[in-house]
Amino acid sequence: MSVVGIDLGFQSCYVAVARAGGIETIANEYSDRCTPACISFGPKNRSIGAAAKSQVISNAKNTVQGFKRFHGRAFSDPFVEAEKSNLAYDIVQLPTGLTGIKVPCFYTDAERRSVMDATQIAGLNCLRLMNETTAVALAYGIYKQDLPALEEKPRNVVFVDMGHSSYQVSVCAFNRGKLKVLATAFDTTLGGRKFDEVLVNHFCEEFGKKYKLDIKSKIRALLRLSQECEKLKKLMSANASDLPLSIECFMNDVDVSGTMNRGKFLEMCDDLLARVEPPLRSVLEQAKLKKEDIYAVEIVGGATRIPAVKEKISKFFGKELSTTLNADEAVTRGCALQCAILSPAFKVREFSITDVVPYPISLRWNSPAEEGSSDCEVFTKNHAAPFSKVLTFYRKEPFTLEAYYSSPQDLPYPDPAIAQFLVQKVTPQSDGSSSKVKVKVRVNVHGIFSVSSASLVEVLKFEENEEPMETDQNFRDLIRPVFQKMQVDQEEPHAEEQQQHTPAENKADHPGAPKDSVLNNKMDQPPQAKKAKVKTSTVDLPIENQLLWQIDREMLNLYIENEGKMIMQDKLEKERNDAKNAVEEYVYEMRDKLSGEYEKFVSEADRNSFTLKLEDTENWLYEDGEDQPKQVYVDKLAELKNLGHPIKMRFQESEERPKLFEELGKQI
Ligand code: ATP
Ligand code: MG
Repeated sequence: MSVVGIDLGFQSCYVAVARAGGIETIANEYSDRCTPACISFGPKNRSIGAAAKSQVISNAKNTVQGFKRFHGRAFSDPFVEAEKSNLAYDIVQLPTGLTGIKVPCFYTDAERRSVMDATQIAGLNCLRLMNETTAVALAYGIYKQDLPALEEKPRNVVFVDMGHSSYQVSVCAFNRGKLKVLATAFDTTLGGRKFDEVLVNHFCEEFGKKYKLDIKSKIRALLRLSQECEKLKKLMSANASDLPLSIECFMNDVDVSGTMNRGKFLEMCDDLLARVEPPLRSVLEQAKLKKEDIYAVEIVGGATRIPAVKEKISKFFGKELSTTLNADEAVTRGCALQCAILSPAFKVREFSITDVVPYPISLRWNSPAEEGSSDCEVFTKNHAAPFSKVLTFYRKEPFTLEAYYSSPQDLPYPDPAIAQFLVQKVTPQSDGSSSKVKVKVRVNVHGIFSVSSASLVEVLKFEENEEPMETDQNFRDLIRPVFQKMQVDQEEPHAEEQQQHTPAENKADHPGAPKDSVLNNKMDQPPQAKKAKVKTSTVDLPIENQLLWQIDREMLNLYIENEGKMIMQDKLEKERNDAKNAVEEYVYEMRDKLSGEYEKFVSEADRNSFTLKLEDTENWLYEDGEDQPKQVYVDKLAELKNLGHPIKMRFQESEERPKLFEELGKQI
């Protein structure tokens, strides 16, 4: 069994694997550790990664890249709307209302669930979906031998990741064997590509005037210009002098060229650079820390290589920036480490991670007592995660809990709804009174919210006048079964913190909470409970999820099946191509050798006919033989080898003979 960490970037992906010796970032078939997040759909098969990237321009309509940010988004989402014009491929509305990519095919809940679906489709067992900066923090902390002891003041480190599409900042507190995320902040649209765009717009205008070209009307030209601008941007990070940008046969057979330098580029990026500081300020404010409380500022992500970005960050903290971590591989390495910790197959130093809830989550429900709806914020911003809470309701019938983000203005998209959970099979007590229903809500290790279980506390018997008990004790008896059940939570491999929603907290959280709602208000308890010994049993209640923006099981199975078919198709196509290449290679090899080292081992007549046969085969490969089933190539190769093999044998024998005599000579 192997565990891998995957960094799913907007522009590139990295995969790291945990091995006995440590974490290793693995290389793809091109011996490159960085794989473009790109898939190209051909008529027969898909190309993935570098092979797909090379088709971005030639197969523009069917090559998808930059899809990371479409996960779990509605087709009508303004982000999707805005992106549409920059895409060479088409996107469509799926039956669920989600965005699909049309080819021959800070994350919110919906985005996370979409990624989880994708891992299932890919046949992966996702152990933990990690926030990128948290993975980076783990990669940082686990190797640090000198972290403060548990009882000491933690070491606060800020992590800054600016990638291709987004900018994320987190501040974490480290103690030995432990990290706690204190706060996160982000600018979900600030990344390397925004800097590319500045250059693209500049050259579109310049070339438009200079060469009378309408570049934006031709998606291929625009893509080529974008690629060149990205290269130029990277060059400018290392070089402050004037640099050229020229493209041959750019549009309408016109060659174009221009120049740019770092100083001018900086001026053009003023607006973008102004966006570097606010998230930095925000994490400090949220975590109530001062700049002096920060031990180090670690930067990762490709776009932090832009000198002006680095300068802004360093100036804000008044500190040299640290680059202890590999800027490109830190996320994937952190993920692989986490998997190794979670996997029983590896012995890794334990390291506990407490992450945070990025957006506050509220629940809304109908309240029979108030004849209206009530709500309560169950997870505040930066609340620790994973985390479970138990809420109590008094109900006689099934009821619905509606989860939503309480501060929609902070979300990267406009819809605050998360999901609806219908707690079913709720019945009144035998005496007709309301039943106590315990509902467990949680944010799991993947950062996904759910109403994960519900149970009804059934009062079996009241024995009046027996040893009166304190309400508190009584109350604990009531909820103990629920707690015990929660502690053996099968879904999560490591113990999760739990918390009872206490009256005080409930009130503090939400002063207006109606009496019938979240319990823990002693007044709400039936009066006789005060003096009676209560025997109870708990019954699990089914919950029906209506997850918004999620594909259902049936669709998911269909996708899994389709993925299986596509993998099969890709494999067959690869084998077919390999068989074809083998024929071609053999033709070239034999042609060379027939007029070289094999020349003496074949009669002139045989050589001529074989050469002719090779020539015919080569022509055939470009014509009728261009697109044949695998077996045809296999047969073709066998046919050629029949002719070539005897020659090769004769050659090898004559090579071996002198060596053999020499050996024999030595022995005598
Ligand atoms: P995201 O994290 O947003 O999902 P990603 O992880 O794919 O995206 P990275 O690989 O961290 O992104 O960074 C890619 C970005 O960094 C690109 O915009 C790239 O042009 C930019 N970049 C890489 N090297 C340099 C450099 N030397 N100078 C400037 N920018 C660079
Ligand atoms: Mg990234």
